[in-house]
Amino acid sequence: MYPVLIVGAGFAGAEAAYRLAQRGVRVGLMTQSLDAVMMPFLPPTPPFPVESLLEKAYDPEDPRVWAFHARAKALLESLKPLHLFQATATGLLVEGGRVLGVRTWEGPQVEAGRVVLAVGSFLGGRLRIGGVEEAAGRLAEASYPDLLEDLLALGFRFVERQGEVPPTPTTPGYRVFYQAFHPEEWDPRTFRLKRLEGLYAVGLCVEEGDYARMSRMGQGLAEHLLHELG
Ligand code: FAD
Repeated sequence: MYPVLIVGAGFAGAEAAYRLAQRGVRVGLMTQSLDAVMMPFLPPTPPFPVESLLEKAYDPEDPRVWAFHARAKALLESLKPLHLFQATATGLLVEGGRVLGVRTWEGPQVEAGRVVLAVGSFLGGRLRIGGVEEAAGRLAEASYPDLLEDLLALGFRFVERQGEVPPTPTTPGYRVFYQAFHPEEWDPRTFRLKRLEGLYAVGLCVEEGDYARMSRMGQGLAEHLLHELG
């Protein structure tokens, strides 16, 4: 059982896991694709939050997205208390109004004292490129319906949001439409999803913003959890 389990190793979730593990907290960082850990849509550009994973993984000599992703993944894997692993969360384990972990598509349940949803644009994600629409939270990364369906069955409310990647001379632009938690479901001070005990959220699934904003939110969540864990 993890004291903290973070679902989603994107800009917000990975940043939170990095800071928690740096301070010695054992944290599970679950991602549906190890090839997409901290994967940007477009290369990040400074300024970045001080002492962040985002800052450390950035190299002005090589800003390519795959190179950035590889450096971030190596930094995460270098921390002993952090377990980065691949699995897809399909629903929450709930008992008496408290979250005890998550169910996974792969089968095993993952138990945790606190569960953080950091699933970005993947709740109901639909990617539209030209006349084609597919179930994806980013290019070449599928979005599966199970977790959203489970959250809807638990009573959570959502709002639709969208983001855009502009066209370049060599690649077409595209849009991603996705569901984010309704602002009334989330407390930005404690990062809690108020409907259930032990459940938190961070990143694009609760608030819009650029990579630096996601990273700051991840740092803020980590500080809050460190305080709660004493
Ligand atoms: P993400 O970085 O998307 O990470 C979410 C992670 O959760 C993914 O890696 C995914 O594998 C994982 N995941 C999802 N569901 C599950 C599940 N059920 N189980 C396990 N793992 C799961 N900001 C910028 O500063 N610059 C940009 O160029 C930019 N372009 C954007 C383009 C689009 C189309 C969108 C929608 C947003 C863009 N943003 C951009 C805004 C935002 O900063 C980024 O989307 C950022 O990646 C969000 O960080 P995140 O951690 O919330 O989610």
